[in-house]
Amino acid sequence: MTRNPAITSGAPGVPCVPDDTHDPHAQSWVDSANRADADFPLQNLPFGRFTQPGLGGEPRVGVAIGDEVLDMSRAVPVLGDGGGDVLRAALRPLGAGDLGGFMALGHDAWHAVRAALSQGLRAGSARQPALAACLLGQRELRMVLPCQIGDYTDFYTGIHHATSVGRLFRPDNPLMPNYKWVPIGYHGRASSIVTSGAPVRRPRGQLRAPDQDPRLAPSQRLDYELEIGAYVGPGNALGEPVDIARAEQHLFGVCLLNDWSARDVQAWEYQPLGPFLSKNFATTVSPWVVTLEALAPFRAPLVRPAGDPAPLPYLHSAGNAAAGAFDLQLEVWLHTARARDSGEPAQCLSRSNWAQAAYWTLAQLVAHHTVGGCNLQPGDLLGTGTLSGPLPEQAGSLLELGQAGRQPVAVGGGEQRSFLLDGDTVILRAWAEREGARRIGLGECRGTVVAA
Ligand code: MN
Repeated sequence: MTRNPAITSGAPGVPCVPDDTHDPHAQSWVDSANRADADFPLQNLPFGRFTQPGLGGEPRVGVAIGDEVLDMSRAVPVLGDGGGDVLRAALRPLGAGDLGGFMALGHDAWHAVRAALSQGLRAGSARQPALAACLLGQRELRMVLPCQIGDYTDFYTGIHHATSVGRLFRPDNPLMPNYKWVPIGYHGRASSIVTSGAPVRRPRGQLRAPDQDPRLAPSQRLDYELEIGAYVGPGNALGEPVDIARAEQHLFGVCLLNDWSARDVQAWEYQPLGPFLSKNFATTVSPWVVTLEALAPFRAPLVRPAGDPAPLPYLHSAGNAAAGAFDLQLEVWLHTARARDSGEPAQCLSRSNWAQAAYWTLAQLVAHHTVGGCNLQPGDLLGTGTLSGPLPEQAGSLLELGQAGRQPVAVGGGEQRSFLLDGDTVILRAWAEREGARRIGLGECRGTVVAA
């Protein structure tokens, strides 16, 4: 399977041709990992950090497998036994609870650990008894952020989102003329990034009704944004841009990201410097980081409509064009307080696909972010921007689904929403599925709105 020329061309030593760790028939001795709909089968092996409620102590690194978590603080000696120098050096930060330190090590280290995990957790492994003693139930753990996130940058790669939001405000000129040339982004706020499950307080801000003076009040137009986040692995030195052909060497893995947005605050404040308080009050990420290596079987070409400008040379490589995108299914669900209280399930609001939604790839985002010399650092987080599909019902925000309040959205049980109410829980999900590959998922990213 040579699905991914992206990495073989011009990126020596970096992954992405599926190998033995992606074998769709491989099973784990952890039974729950073998369910057909499991997000975390043997072929995924995502990393996260957790604490055990009631036990205290520093966060530890875990690897999700089925419904369980392999506690790396205990599994490291088992996995490293008989391994080479690269593996033992790679396991050191993982045993010490330092996932950020592991992310900084780069692909050779990531691959060595992935191979050791894949062998150790595979059905028939001689290490089963020793590793089984390192398993904890996912449900008993409290997940925390995977690493210290120094900087967070949010992009705007969803062209259907950019077009439909643009149309709401500029019907005759929906897409700005720079969009197909520049990967648009802004520098976000890292301090308010929280993990799935944390409550999100409705922000106050300046609201301005037409023909009135602005006032300070709780946002009346609170929204979610369906995005993918990507964590930076090894950084680049200040002043030294990253070539697009090597851009993915600098990316460790991806998560789900909800870029909560106060649309009324945003509308009043965003000119001329872009969003500020409307976006910086909370960003929720899913706790498990799925490595780019795990996503190797799900690469997709970067498709541009005929007649669109070719990317400038620093944003183009043959590999990126052939396989720079990811074929990932995305979903937004809403669970209202009323539905929760009456025992009704959450309602799916929309579905889309990352490859169909995004105009720019992760590699292009890294190349663009650094082309002026900006240094990315290990643990930095990049957001894709809202990933809306081409059809109206595939929109990744309520702003679009509800046409800025003009067409309230049915959310089940006779309820409607134009924007989020207190008590609403927003749930993002994502998974990859393809003929000849084992399905893997990103888990979920969940947050409940609480009153201002
Ligand atoms: Mn966003």
